[in-house]
Amino acid sequence: MSVDAAESAATPVDAARDRAAPAIPAPRHELAAVDPAAAPASPAAPASAAADELVVGGLQPFTTIDYPGALAAVVFVQGCPWRCGYCHNPQLQPRVKPAEAAGPGWAALRPWLARRLGLIDAVVFSGGEPTLDPALPAAMAEVRALGLKVGLHSAGIYPQRLAAALPLADWVGLDLKAPPADDAAYDRVSGVRGSAAALRRSLALLAASGVAHECRSTIHPALHDDAALLAMADALAAAGIADWALQICRPPKGSALAPVGAGWPSEPLLAALRSRVEPLTIRRAD
Ligand code: SF4
Repeated sequence: MSVDAAESAATPVDAARDRAAPAIPAPRHELAAVDPAAAPASPAAPASAAADELVVGGLQPFTTIDYPGALAAVVFVQGCPWRCGYCHNPQLQPRVKPAEAAGPGWAALRPWLARRLGLIDAVVFSGGEPTLDPALPAAMAEVRALGLKVGLHSAGIYPQRLAAALPLADWVGLDLKAPPADDAAYDRVSGVRGSAAALRRSLALLAASGVAHECRSTIHPALHDDAALLAMADALAAAGIADWALQICRPPKGSALAPVGAGWPSEPLLAALRSRVEPLTIRRAD
């Protein structure tokens, strides 16, 4: 797809995919290990590639909500090895060849971004899992060279690749899907064994990086009881994270999950969470 077509067509992805996505009580499939053919879970050294090789699954030309305080475009990178049952963009999960991707290639995005100078402040790389793509650092560096801020959304799936991307990022939004110390709970949400260990390493890297950030968690009372939410808050506090967004789940079509009532989480619970992590932001879908 050309950039012009992407700009004029309905956005091929849900820009608010993780903002108010539902959690599920159990995976819809067998738990699997991260597919090493898609990308190594812990590469010995982050691979690199030219920016033109970035596999773009979609483009959000303009958004006010994906980078705090900035007008931004969002580039959705194709591919994610996790299989969260609540994923709002399952079309971005398969890793495909660049020519098969639905979004515009980086060679087309490069001049388009140059024309957007003065109209946007930042470019956010989202997904899928953008750190999966070896071309991500090169693309981030090009955005920086244009004078734009660089945002990165990640689930922390590839800690070493995140480490390589952090010096090129001005702001990071990191998903926290369950208590980091609860391997079984994390596996249940991600659909992949060992996912909590990757998140724990990524969380520590982000906290130590000095890069502006937010951790965000999509929550549903059927999955996150008070103890789980308090454990998540304690883990963030212990890691030194001081910015947490709770995204109240928005059940997708066909979900067995009930809509979440306006009174959840309770005020006493929110007060307990805020006593551990502040600021704490609550996001509810319209
Ligand atoms: S981690 Fe991957 S599967 Fe899970 S919500 Fe994000 S893009 Fe979807």
